Amino acid sequence: MSSDYDVVVLGSGPGGYIAAIRAAQLGLKAAVVEKEEVGGVCLNWGCIPSKALLRNAEVLNLFRDPAKWGVSFDNMTYDMGAAIDRSRRVVDRVVKGVQSLFKKHNIDLYRGTGRLASQGVVAIDSLGKKLKAANIILATGTRARSLPGLKVDGETVVTSRNALESRETPATIVIVGGGAVGVEFAYFYRSYGSEVTIVEMLPRLLPGEDEEVSQHLERALKRQGIQIMTGSTVEKLARSKGRAKVTISPGAEVIECDRVLLGVGVQPNTEELGLEGLGVEMENGFIKIDDRMAANVPGVYAIGDVTGKMPLAHVASAQGVLAAEVIAEREPAPLDYSQMPRAIYCQPQVASMGLTEQAAREKGHEVKIGRFPFAANGKAVALGLPDGFVKLVADARYGEILGAHLIGHDVTDLLAEISTARMLEGTALEIGRSVHAHPSLSEAIMEAGLGVFDESLNI
Ligand code: FAD
Repeated sequence: MSSDYDVVVLGSGPGGYIAAIRAAQLGLKAAVVEKEEVGGVCLNWGCIPSKALLRNAEVLNLFRDPAKWGVSFDNMTYDMGAAIDRSRRVVDRVVKGVQSLFKKHNIDLYRGTGRLASQGVVAIDSLGKKLKAANIILATGTRARSLPGLKVDGETVVTSRNALESRETPATIVIVGGGAVGVEFAYFYRSYGSEVTIVEMLPRLLPGEDEEVSQHLERALKRQGIQIMTGSTVEKLARSKGRAKVTISPGAEVIECDRVLLGVGVQPNTEELGLEGLGVEMENGFIKIDDRMAANVPGVYAIGDVTGKMPLAHVASAQGVLAAEVIAEREPAPLDYSQMPRAIYCQPQVASMGLTEQAAREKGHEVKIGRFPFAANGKAVALGLPDGFVKLVADARYGEILGAHLIGHDVTDLLAEISTARMLEGTALEIGRSVHAHPSLSEAIMEAGLGVFDESLNI
C-alpha cells in the first residue's frame, strides 16, 4: 500500500508542529491534523498567553512603587481586560508564525479531529478523509484535570483556560494547587489587586523543586500579600449567585470568593483516538512509549504531554525532534529527562534542572553546594531586584553539576548556560572560570560555580 504521507501528526502543539517541521527538514512528506487552533495548548492556552499576562503584571508592579524611581502621578488606573486583549494579540502572532512555517515546509494541515482508523490510516471524519501514513505521531496533549466536588463551570470554578479569557479581576480568588500554574496565576491576580489564597495539598509550594527554592518562593509570595495554605485540601465547595464558599481542611477554614481556579494537573487526550482498537498500550491513561518515542504498535509514535513523561513544551518539542529523526532513520541519542530544564514565571522566577540537593544526597553523591545571592550581584542591585539566589549542586569529586536551582528576577533566561555546560561535559569549575560580562545577572552563576570550590569572589 503506498502512503499519502511519510508522517501524519495528530495535534499541532509544540510536540506535533515541531515534529512535522523536523520531518520535513529531513525530506519526509508530512501532514498535521489539528482539531482546534494551530500551536496547541502552549501557544493558545498555556505558555504564551500566560507569559504575556505575567509581563503585564510585572509592568504594573513597576508602577506600584513610583517614588523608588522618582516618578509621581495621580490616580493610576489599570485594566486586566487590556492585559487579556494583549495576550490574545500575542497568541495570534505566534500562531500565524507556525502557520507560515507549515507553508514554508510544505506541510499539509487538515483541520479536524483525527483518529487511527486502522494500522497506517488516519481518519478525519468531519472532512470525510482517510490519510494513508507510513508513520503516525500522536501529539494530542492533555487538558486540565478537575477534582471530585470541584466541577468546573467556567465561571465560578475555572481552569487556566477559562482564566486566560476572563477580562474581569476577581476581588477574591482561591487557587487550588501550588504548582507552576498555581503560583503563576497567584502572582498575576495579586498584581491586579485580588485577594489570593493558594491551597496546596503537599507540605510546600512547587513540591518537585529544591526545598530551599520552595521556601524562598513561599516567603516572597507572602510578602506580596498572597495567603498560602500548604498541607491543606478543599474539603467542601458551595456555590451561590456566582460566588463560592470554600471549606479548607485541616481546620475547616472557610473562604468566600468570587472564583476558584484549579491548577491540579492534567489528563491525557486519548479518548476517541482509536487506540484500543489498534491495541496501543497505555500506562495510567497516557500512551506508553520507548526511548525512541515508539508505541507498541509498529509505525505509531507518541510525543509530548500525552506520553505523561514531563508536561513541558520544550520536552514535547525535544520528543518531536527525536521521533522525526527516528522515522528518518537518523538514530538520535535518547533523551535524558533528568536534565530537562524547568521554568516557572511568577516573579521571582524559578528555574531548575537536574537533581535537587536532597535527591543528589539520596542517590549517594558526596555533594558540594555553590550558592550565590542576587543581593551580592551588582546588576540585580542596580535593577532594584536583589531577591533570590543561584544554587549549584555538584559532585564533590570533580565538580560535576548534578543540579541547578535558581530563584530571582528573570532567572528562566539564565538556566541555558548550565545546560550547555553540562552537555559539553563542563563542570562547576568551567562555569566559575569562564569570564562573564559585568554587570550581568549571569555573574551569579559564575560565582556559584566558584562557590562549589569555596572560591566565590564577591561574597
Ligand atoms: P498540546 O500543546 O496540548 O497540543 C495538543 C494539540 O492536539 C491541541 O492543539 C489539540 O487541539 C490537538 N488534538 C487533540 N486531540 C486531537 C485529535 N484527535 N485530532 C486532532 N487534533 C487533536 N510548559 C512550558 O514548558 N512552559 C510554560 O511556561 C508553560 N506554561 C503553561 C501554562 C499553562 C496555563 C498551561 C495550561 C500549560 C503550560 N505549559 C507550559 C505546558 C505546555 O502547554 C504543555 O506541556 C505543551 O502544550 C504540551 O505540548 P503537546 O504538543 O504535547 O500538546
